[in-house]
Amino acid sequence: MTRAPIRIALIPLLAFAAAATGAAYTLNYAIPSAGGCPVPTTISLAAPIPRQWSTSLPVSPQIIFTAAAPGTSQQISEIGQTISAAYAAWTGVSGTEISAGTFPGALGPLNETSTQSACGSDQGTGVTGTNTICFDESSAAFAPGVLAFTRVFVATAPGETLGSVTSSFAGQILEADILFRNDGQATFATPEALANAPNSYDLESILIHELGHTFGLEHSPIWRAAMAPFAPPPGTYWGPRPTPAAPDAPLRDDDRTGIRALYPDPNDTTDIGIITGRVVPANPLALSGFAATAAGEYVTGIFGAHVVAVDAQTGQVVAGALSGWSCASPTAAPVFDGTYQIDRLPLGRSYNLYIEPLDGAITPADIGGNGLSPCRSSGSTPCSAPPVNTDFVARVKSSK
Ligand SMILES: [Zn+2]
Repeated sequence: MTRAPIRIALIPLLAFAAAATGAAYTLNYAIPSAGGCPVPTTISLAAPIPRQWSTSLPVSPQIIFTAAAPGTSQQISEIGQTISAAYAAWTGVSGTEISAGTFPGALGPLNETSTQSACGSDQGTGVTGTNTICFDESSAAFAPGVLAFTRVFVATAPGETLGSVTSSFAGQILEADILFRNDGQATFATPEALANAPNSYDLESILIHELGHTFGLEHSPIWRAAMAPFAPPPGTYWGPRPTPAAPDAPLRDDDRTGIRALYPDPNDTTDIGIITGRVVPANPLALSGFAATAAGEYVTGIFGAHVVAVDAQTGQVVAGALSGWSCASPTAAPVFDGTYQIDRLPLGRSYNLYIEPLDGAITPADIGGNGLSPCRSSGSTPCSAPPVNTDFVARVKSSK
């Protein structure tokens, strides 16, 4: 069993509230063990995505409030329906390979297990090769303020094995497990129960966020995006609830663009616009990372700037990206030249761009995983990412 190279990321969702501006979906990156350019992490679609949730629920303290009585089959059913609705938010996005409307076989059945430790431990033992949701496990990752987190196992080469799953590509998410805090420091409520549980967090909102990690997304700095790193305050939720006609209603366009970028539908002829460029300082000598990094790269652009595309007609934020790097080839190490690319934009629209530093309520530290640390210090192409540059001002520019 090849265990060592597999990278484990713990991505917490925090209880906190503040105002923020800006937007950017962020992908999680893996650096192939052979070196080379960072690749986005994704679940393999070679077979239906396996998934299950554990019906082992804490009784004391009770952490999930439902409209049904605790301990009944109706309670299990209500929680299961909330989980299914949260999955459907992501598979309800058009123009993706996981779209229920286009590729209904992408998701396996949502199975139930009564096993208490179905999500495995922090050390990676007990991995099952299935993607699991658990409400009855403790973890060292539950620092103060952490409501839930997703533990993601990522292969860095083909042929790595975890449990019964063997990777077929570098960056493959072999397993993702979602754990909810169960020590009584936070409680959760299904949509049916939220109005009568004003001190509980919206279970559906948090599930949608964590499932975004399961599919490979990282935190977005847009405040109302599902992938923002902070949960809606207790007793509340953001945006509309899903409906049969619009299962992805709880998502923002930034979330939709992110999942399209990860799992693009090859037959999509609408959401295929790209805006790309570089964020460079007017005076290169002003670049805080102007000197070579520890691994010798020459930093020639602003790293971690927030580039956001706004629909010129509606004024709505469509998507954003963080400026970072480019690679001369898939086997070349990244060069930190301030390149950004916003993918999967609807055609036939005009966009205004703005650029801002990540110095608002959501900081570089809130972007989890490897979204801003796409380097490996060893191997054939070691690299060292510069610090995120938050010390600049930018002029608003217009683009198409
Ligand atoms: Zn998160």
